[in-house]
Amino acid sequence: MKPLKPELERREREHLYRSRRLLTGPQGPEVKMGRRTVLSFCSNDYLGLANHPKVITALQKGAEKYGAGSGAAHLVSGHSKAHHALEEELAEFTGRPRALLFSTGYMANLGVITALMGRDDSIYEDRLNHASLIDGGLLSRAGFRRFAHSDLEALERQMRSQEKASIQGDAMVVVDGIFSMDGDIAPLPELADFCRKREAWLMVDDAHGMGVLGATGAGTLEHFALGVEDVPILMGTLGKGFGTFGAFVAGSEELIETLIQDARSYIYTTASPPAVAEATRASLKLVQKETWRRERLQELIQRFRTGAEQLGLPLMQSETPIQPMLAITAEKAIAWSSSLEKKRILVSAIRPPTVPEGSARLRVTMCANHTDEHVDRLLDALSDAVT
Ligand SMILES: *Cc1c(COP(=O)(O)O)cnc(C)c1O
Repeated sequence: MKPLKPELERREREHLYRSRRLLTGPQGPEVKMGRRTVLSFCSNDYLGLANHPKVITALQKGAEKYGAGSGAAHLVSGHSKAHHALEEELAEFTGRPRALLFSTGYMANLGVITALMGRDDSIYEDRLNHASLIDGGLLSRAGFRRFAHSDLEALERQMRSQEKASIQGDAMVVVDGIFSMDGDIAPLPELADFCRKREAWLMVDDAHGMGVLGATGAGTLEHFALGVEDVPILMGTLGKGFGTFGAFVAGSEELIETLIQDARSYIYTTASPPAVAEATRASLKLVQKETWRRERLQELIQRFRTGAEQLGLPLMQSETPIQPMLAITAEKAIAWSSSLEKKRILVSAIRPPTVPEGSARLRVTMCANHTDEHVDRLLDALSDAVT
């Protein structure tokens, strides 16, 4: 048993130590930390639904009807009418034959990739993919490669070299729809073409696009008008834009049945509480109906970017609610974040290994409930912190 302390001390020295902040109230543009109220720019509750009265009421009513817990896995006795109705509504929302709920996005990604891919297959993932996609790829024991970010030529070179080595079996290309730490959008139309020609699976993890992109909020695929023939596997999460908790996979009838039979992270776990599914159903209605939330986000993004450009801040290229500021070193990212926190503004510093070495950053995220004044306060504080 090796002592753990030296490694913890190394992390601390290298500005890589992770710690948690204690919130004492709900998510929102402003959050409570004990007696302090701070302005938050680091939640993924992009549409401001996590504390919406209708969503809360649906959760309460769901608990009265179904109780607090589901009591069992979906395949035992935990699959309720609330889960089932939500799956049908998510299928319709994404324009796909079927959808399947998972407890979390992390589990959905592990489940899909390991159910479909095995030893003789090859997986190609964007270098900036979310950790859960990387872990799913590694766990599947398929050949595993990571290609340069959004670089289709690099992807093609890797596929060719596999073919030359006469590696047969299935191929799967996996990308984030909106990259979680960078905020840029994957070149999905090109990837869909590429995968169709090569008869490879294409899987898109749209954790950050759901609710945020597309006319009805159906995400990056709706934004590009891509259907189930273009992208056979769509994963979406419910804990970000939807403001609740959980995740789903949407695709063909056969895909969903295969996952029910084979996805271990679906089979061997307790179903999420039905009340949470009821809350998500309420949230899904708001996502579709209240288009002003997406419009408001765009206004806030524009205001922030224009202001940041005028101040000469190290803004990265992104048109989504994820607006990172490149600090390069972890030390600098931490210094910026603490300088903001002294002014009661919360923005988290993202450091390696979450992002590649030399690209530590502040990850600013916008919420439809932020006011113009909130953004201006952030810009002021950033201008002091960064210069
Ligand atoms: C957050 C996130 C996940 C994990 O989803 P959870 O429901 O939080 O487990 C997966 N993929 C991406 C791209 C994410 O940002």
